[in-house]
Amino acid sequence: MVIVGGGAAGVTAGIYSVSYGMRTVVFERMMTGGQVINTEKIDNMLGLPQGISGPDFGMLLQDHLTRREVEIKLTEVEQLTWDAPYWVANTYDGSFTSKAVILAGGSTLKRLNVPGEDDFHGAGVSYCATCDGAFFDGQVVGVVGGGDSALDETDVLAGFASQVLVFHRGNSFSAQKQLSNRVLSNPKVNVYWNSVVEKVLGDTQVEGVNIKDTANGKVRRVDLAGLFIYIGLKPNTEYLQGVVDLDSIGHVSTDIWMNTNRSGLFAAGDIRQNSASQLVSAAGDGATAAIAAQRYVKSRNWV
Ligand code: NAP
Repeated sequence: MVIVGGGAAGVTAGIYSVSYGMRTVVFERMMTGGQVINTEKIDNMLGLPQGISGPDFGMLLQDHLTRREVEIKLTEVEQLTWDAPYWVANTYDGSFTSKAVILAGGSTLKRLNVPGEDDFHGAGVSYCATCDGAFFDGQVVGVVGGGDSALDETDVLAGFASQVLVFHRGNSFSAQKQLSNRVLSNPKVNVYWNSVVEKVLGDTQVEGVNIKDTANGKVRRVDLAGLFIYIGLKPNTEYLQGVVDLDSIGHVSTDIWMNTNRSGLFAAGDIRQNSASQLVSAAGDGATAAIAAQRYVKSRNWV
């Protein structure tokens, strides 16, 4: 069994897969844990009522794989090809043939695609408050977005910054109510409703942004030292174009057993269409995919 991705979905799939006696390899291009290792605190994980930091959670996942003797390869799968009746995963470290593949490669944070964003990446523009928040101790920072990620990270940044300015294009947040209430009641947070960031300004470091009021079209400058962007997620499926059915956003289409339209190919977690994008649901997908995949493998005669 080949599993692409070492986040909650891939790790759970790995643990289940070996428990069914399958020789299992998990491919991970960065670190075990996936997106969640950039999270300051996870407080909605089953069985962890005190919460846990993202990096600590990632280390527990790694430990879990090691203890169950799941093979982990730190490399990127570049291409997946069908060589009937097998799948072949081509990686930077060679090709691996398998009877079944579980796609659990997750997603990447979306870019705003405005002038200055790329130029100042690492010089004030960031996508990880947990990693970079402390650099802005006592300074003014901005956050773009109004979902769970943006408000979670606003909360983190308010622990360091003198002020956090939240730029949201709508007039209400889509984030969980509890999170919205916490952010809105924080005296360090100032929300700019109906506001889109049009440009990141600065010389060698971020010094401000131009924001446009979507109600009246007026553009104005707001001074700040850092900008944290959380405007949603893009599935990591570029290498799967033409291999498996993807929806218009790029998510892999699956049925409720995580079967894709290709035999022996399953998908789990954020990468699949209609994922709830939660740790627990990703883990649930991973378990379902592993059960379906081992049934698939055991139901066939392999030569
Ligand atoms: P999201 O829920 O898709 O929210 C994206 C936010 O960015 C929305 O406020 C959206 O505005 C805004 N946005 C999108 N494109 C934009 C653009 N081009 N310019 C300006 N604003 C833009 O993404 P997310 O917050 O990253 O969350 C992703 C998933 O992970 C969600 O399912 C979330 O529940 C989950 N998550 C959960 C937790 C948790 O349980 N604590 C933490 C983090 C993430 P509109 O509302 O106007 O579209």
